[in-house]
Amino acid sequence: MGTEGASVEISEPLLVSETQQIKPVEEEPEQQIPEWKDQITIRGLAVSALLGTLFCIITHKLNLTVGIIPSLNVGAGATELKGCEDLGFMGLALCSNCNTLAEIAGVGRGVCWVNGLLVKQRMSLTQINMTKAPEAQHPVKAFGWAATDQSGHLSPLNFSRRATGDEDVRFKVLYCGICHSDLHSIKNEWGFSTYPLVPGHEIVGEVTEVGSKVNKVKVGDKVGVGCMVGACHSCEQCNNDLENYCPKMILTYNSIYHDGTITYGGFSDTMVANEHYIVRFPENLPLEAGAPLLCAGITVYSPLKYFGFAQPGKHIGVVGLGGLGHVAVKFAKAFGAKVTVISTSTSKKDEALEHLGADSFLVSRDADQIQDAMNTMDGIIDTVSAVHPLLPLISLLKSHGTLVMVGAPDKPLELPVPPLIVGRKMVAGSAIGGMKETQEMIDFAAKHNITADIEVISMDYVNTAMERLAKGDVRYRFRYQRWKHLGCY
Ligand SMILES: [Zn+2]
Ligand SMILES: [Zn+2]
Repeated sequence: MGTEGASVEISEPLLVSETQQIKPVEEEPEQQIPEWKDQITIRGLAVSALLGTLFCIITHKLNLTVGIIPSLNVGAGATELKGCEDLGFMGLALCSNCNTLAEIAGVGRGVCWVNGLLVKQRMSLTQINMTKAPEAQHPVKAFGWAATDQSGHLSPLNFSRRATGDEDVRFKVLYCGICHSDLHSIKNEWGFSTYPLVPGHEIVGEVTEVGSKVNKVKVGDKVGVGCMVGACHSCEQCNNDLENYCPKMILTYNSIYHDGTITYGGFSDTMVANEHYIVRFPENLPLEAGAPLLCAGITVYSPLKYFGFAQPGKHIGVVGLGGLGHVAVKFAKAFGAKVTVISTSTSKKDEALEHLGADSFLVSRDADQIQDAMNTMDGIIDTVSAVHPLLPLISLLKSHGTLVMVGAPDKPLELPVPPLIVGRKMVAGSAIGGMKETQEMIDFAAKHNITADIEVISMDYVNTAMERLAKGDVRYRFRYQRWKHLGCY
């Protein structure tokens, strides 16, 4: 993560299960937590081992060839909390009868050292149908670029995608954005990567086939898929078009799909998804520069709308001018708001004012500038993922104003409470948006000519691009290092 406002990242919302409870630890957390840890370790192993064994014995009639492999890293499907030490366990069993690798994920409680919270995880029982190699799992052949281990190096992979179901849309991938979360995922920096891992969740292309019940799009239409490809469709969040907050939301890659197979992302020649997760791209919205909106765009659009910032006359601050920030400025301006970019240095001032059309620019480290702008903003979208002080930002808010965090620092930030109390101010968070709102955002972007600033690269450049992204050495050479595009094919 960079140290500048340019470091912006949250693409995958933190997944929390339905039964997850987060309780503050009131006293001496350092003293209490290790006890938990020890107990849970033992219980976790036992339960996981038992379940794994039983599962294969029952379903595959004792043709168990490989026993249980407890692991400290819970696989996909369990609950993850960034910055936490995860204490889930995983049982693995290989059945020689059907050659099914069953994963019994599960168990227990994690300890979030960083946030000082105890995190109770739901036990989940999952079978991953890793029957055969990824290329033989499904009937439709696919080609992509995958990481096969934590080195994160991407190499060509033959795999497969499911046949086009009644409600499915299949499309040829034309471009796919590179998001910083792709980098975290291929290197297993969040601890739940399953290899081979095909990243990419800003996927756009042209429809090649639709299922019999699909009426949203037709062959030849331009479409996209963003961060998610499934959810439960029965919970309160889903019923309110907020699949992004569904506890069973399925991510576009490195997640377990309804059929038990692992999802693969857009660094690939072809994609298939349920039509509910397909976003229509209006003709006038360029595919390559529109693709990042599927992640960055909706991440900022949703809070602008939800918190009432999307109105003429509102004064909105945008902290950080990276992949999320530059798009936030464009959307906020299109809503008619007055926009102030807040950054740690003046290096991006010209860019903010002249290129992006922001109304003013504030250096957050300049006490005089902050003082002059105190109590002037209705809302602030904070895209910075590095640890940074909140006090200057809170002081910029008017009474009842809201500071919305969309970047995800991996360490806790200090929250000064008195200024919140005095002005009845709020600090909030937000993660992408539901499918209905994502379509609304894309349509709005097309209408107002909003796109992300991008650089198009060829697929064989992807490893170099990832290295540069990791090092941040593209910051001064390219306008927005977060959002590269892959001309996949
Ligand atoms: Zn993303
Ligand atoms: Zn749901």
